[in-house]
Amino acid sequence: MTMRHVILGAGPAGLAALASIRRNDAGARITLVSGEPGLPYSRMALPYYVNGDLPSRHLYPHPALWYRQPGVELRWGEPGEALDVERREVTLAGGERLPFDRLLVATGSRAQLREAPGIHLPQVQLLWTLGDARRLRRRANGASEVVIWGAGMIAFMTAKALLTAGRRVHFICRAEYLLRRSLDQEAAFLLEGALEQAGAVLHRGLNLAEIRSGPGRRCRVLLTDGSELPADLVVVALGVAPNLDWLDDAPVQRRQGLLVNERLETSAAGIFAAGDVAEVRDCVTGESGVPALWSVATDQGRVAGLNMTGATLVCDPALRSNTMVFHDYVVATLGCPLVRENTRVYRRLDRERRVYRCLVLSGGRLVGAILAGDVSQVGFLRSVIRRGAVLTDPEGLLGTPPLPGGVRP
Ligand SMILES: Cc1cc2nc3c(=O)[nH]c(=O)nc-3n(C[C@H](O)[C@H](O)[C@H](O)COP(=O)(O)OP(=O)(O)OC[C@H]3O[C@@H](n4cnc5c(N)ncnc54)[C@H](O)[C@@H]3O)c2cc1C
Repeated sequence: MTMRHVILGAGPAGLAALASIRRNDAGARITLVSGEPGLPYSRMALPYYVNGDLPSRHLYPHPALWYRQPGVELRWGEPGEALDVERREVTLAGGERLPFDRLLVATGSRAQLREAPGIHLPQVQLLWTLGDARRLRRRANGASEVVIWGAGMIAFMTAKALLTAGRRVHFICRAEYLLRRSLDQEAAFLLEGALEQAGAVLHRGLNLAEIRSGPGRRCRVLLTDGSELPADLVVVALGVAPNLDWLDDAPVQRRQGLLVNERLETSAAGIFAAGDVAEVRDCVTGESGVPALWSVATDQGRVAGLNMTGATLVCDPALRSNTMVFHDYVVATLGCPLVRENTRVYRRLDRERRVYRCLVLSGGRLVGAILAGDVSQVGFLRSVIRRGAVLTDPEGLLGTPPLPGGVRP
């Protein structure tokens, strides 16, 4: 029997699933649906397009020809609007109904625009879609001062693009330092140093109160301490939320994201979820959450695709990892590197070389790490975390040169 697969979403999760299904079941019929018009692009590449480093043709993971595969049908710019679990069909925005045997929900997430006076002024925007990136690139052209409301990963990536394009960037950062969910204060200060040298200004411990129009094409951003920043552009980067609204009342269990088992199947049989829309177990904390990371989305898409063809593959619990590079300074994080109950933290800072290492252990096992200025140990530490290995000499591991010793499996 020919299986009918529908994949909703053409980000890394959806595309990895498509490749997996084709590899495992060459006769399958697959409909790939994207809510956005045009060829699927990579969100992660958008900042490099904004600052002109990347020509637009490099935004696309595959050329148009790649999608012309036997048994594959495409629907661009037609978001799924409703899911009927019982009748096993998805209704698209144009009214078309797509019947399926197996469905993958890979609809990703979207950036949040928080209400504030002046938030709808034309100088205010997000950086999430290709449309946002095109607008930002155009507007950044004539801009000199940009305010970024937020201090997480997207805020950092946006700032990086604008600073390297020669703009002055102000961060409105409610916390005492940037990337508070990924970095500790020491690592954040090192990264902030690199950003500040390039013209970034951090407004720490403050929030945005209001945006007022003028003078001219500019606007003024009022902060909670009463100070005011003139801005040509305001970019809102306050976090993301999984795209679940379209599922409405469909009987599929969800919390923050769609709940899935270790095979990435939702509570509805034959309906899978992967990527930023799926809520999964964290490799080190065991807690359920949405990692919202490219590498996790790709892995999950690959596994979900295989399981849609009848395989029974277990997806490894998500291991958070990210690398932030600014000019020649690099910071990497692995697992859960923040201090929690029952954790022991080992740190070493070489101020002169701006090299910092932080290892977080729980019950003798490595559960998180931050490496700044020298990330040569990332691969090794990732495998230590994945294996749940006991570290017998964490102090030794902090030293240089890097040493893969002192580990008991
Ligand atoms: C500027 C920027 C920088 C980033 N940098 C990093 C980084 O450095 N490291 C990192 O790990 N991650 C980064 N990310 C996050 C990373 O891009 C995401 O985690 C990843 O794209 C998630 O993949 P996904 O396939 O789950 O969802 P997405 O890539 O969001 O794709 C979702 C797809 O679903 C479609 N869709 C949405 N709703 C519907 C619907 N109702 N019906 C049909 N289709 C729908 C969309 O059009 C899209 O095709 C960055 C993101 C941005 C925006």
